[in-house]
Amino acid sequence: MVLDHADSSSLRESATFPTEMISHVQSMARTGRYEIRGWGAKRHVPSFDDLTFITASLSRYPLEGYRERCETKTVLGNRFASKPLELDIPITIAGMSFGSLSAAAKDSLGRAATAVGTSTTTGDGGMTQEERRSSKLLVYQCLPSRYGFNPEHLRMADAIEVVVGQGAKPGGGGMLLGQKVSDRVAGMRTLPTGVDQRSASRHPDWTGPDDLTIKIGELREATNWEKPIYVKFGATRVANDVKLAIAAGADVVVVDGMQGGTGATQDVFIEHTGIPTLPAVRLAAEAIREVGMTGKVQLIVSGGIRTGADIAKALALGADAVSIGVASLIALGCNSAFYESDGEQIDVTAGYTALGTAPGFCHECQSGACPVGITTQDPELSKRLDPELGALRLTNYLKALTMELTTLARACGKNDVHHLEPEDLVALTIEAAAMAKVPLAGTSWIPGQSF
Ligand code: SF4
Repeated sequence: MVLDHADSSSLRESATFPTEMISHVQSMARTGRYEIRGWGAKRHVPSFDDLTFITASLSRYPLEGYRERCETKTVLGNRFASKPLELDIPITIAGMSFGSLSAAAKDSLGRAATAVGTSTTTGDGGMTQEERRSSKLLVYQCLPSRYGFNPEHLRMADAIEVVVGQGAKPGGGGMLLGQKVSDRVAGMRTLPTGVDQRSASRHPDWTGPDDLTIKIGELREATNWEKPIYVKFGATRVANDVKLAIAAGADVVVVDGMQGGTGATQDVFIEHTGIPTLPAVRLAAEAIREVGMTGKVQLIVSGGIRTGADIAKALALGADAVSIGVASLIALGCNSAFYESDGEQIDVTAGYTALGTAPGFCHECQSGACPVGITTQDPELSKRLDPELGALRLTNYLKALTMELTTLARACGKNDVHHLEPEDLVALTIEAAAMAKVPLAGTSWIPGQSF
């Protein structure tokens, strides 16, 4: 049927209620529930893409990529710990739980991290034998839920990360839906099989920074003052949180921006809480400087880190290292249309279709039916990820990231990636200039600072 008045206004989409919003409202009206999903924020926010390097030319001298070395060694936790972590690269693997991820995926992360000389991290639900075996350097998370917390594992770790919050859900707890709570996962968490688990949003051991000081003291005693203690939080009131963490005795602060991923939480948290990683890194670095701790307390930033350019920009703005989560899963095969078995590529598009999505668009980690076997506890689906092959892919990715990072650092005339500095950057948008506090390209203008 042809509409009488089928002019452009008949098919004009509402900016307030675009089709996606109409379907969101109708879904809540149908089910009476909010959406729970995995991954990080999908909407556009100012990011490292909005910055560019002003590399060497006449006024600065670049280093020769094929002849001159660019150092990537990174030391984390030398404030109080007698055994700080010595990493070959400033890229670490973020905490992701066994339960959210399969044991094979955790194993792959550990093997790849070990191959490139960096660390990986446990998650809610404790430490698996596989990841301890495969990870030369393993950071053990101490989380509000205490699921799977084991003092023996604390002593087996190489560093401790006290998790106050995450960028995907600052102020909220994690979730593990019943379909992922296998006998093994339930056993490690001492909870019933097949029942939804909601993690606490705050630690039971403290109600404020003074209690955190006591907790960090306990962890130091329990690990003989050997292991670095990190404090991780989602990026909200970054300056205050960094200063409080340092006052409580942290060796390392980990700031996770709003683009940070999760295995499962409410979409409303993922899209509407926290601040982007771009301003978070600058705020955190400034706070560390203000309390005179630059070089004594290290800063790790995470949340939407994907490329060597992202890493170089984070380091230039003051980070000592970055952590990657979602990007490492993509390297393992997340969102691929196929998985590999005995050299053959097996198409799994139907698995995505069954989840109501498609390769390249999936955020269904909460479902437990990951088509490529990464975020599942289903024994058959888990077989789709070969830990060795996954580790090889992730190792390649980490090496390529490091090459991108050193290429940019050399082009800026630096023989150490840690010598990158804010002066190497300009912003392409006014928002990024204001958030990163670097000049808008072609000007000397930093919004809010200079005129
Ligand atoms: S492919 Fe698997 S890991 Fe990737 S978003 Fe989908 S469910 Fe999650």
